[in-house]
Amino acid sequence: MPAALSPKGLTAMRVVADLELCQGHGVCVGEAPIVFAVREREGDYAHVEILIESPEEALRAQVEAAVRYCPNRALALIEDDASPR
Ligand code: SF4
Repeated sequence: MPAALSPKGLTAMRVVADLELCQGHGVCVGEAPIVFAVREREGDYAHVEILIESPEEALRAQVEAAVRYCPNRALALIEDDASPR
């Protein structure tokens, strides 16, 4: 259905995490396991690890859900539309 989406390297979004806010709940992993992981840390909260910083368009719904449902609002989706033609 979506035409002309995500040829390799042509992505329009970027995921960022505020590690000050993240407490490692792992909701993001549940929503988008390809994009996020949670790393345990000795004596501290686990932290999210972003596995794919610029996910392809096909993953947008999953990433948006992860951002929406993160209980600490630690995630953000930035639209990068600066891709030169
Ligand atoms: S980013 Fe949010 S959902 Fe993901 S591990 Fe951190 S606090 Fe949990």
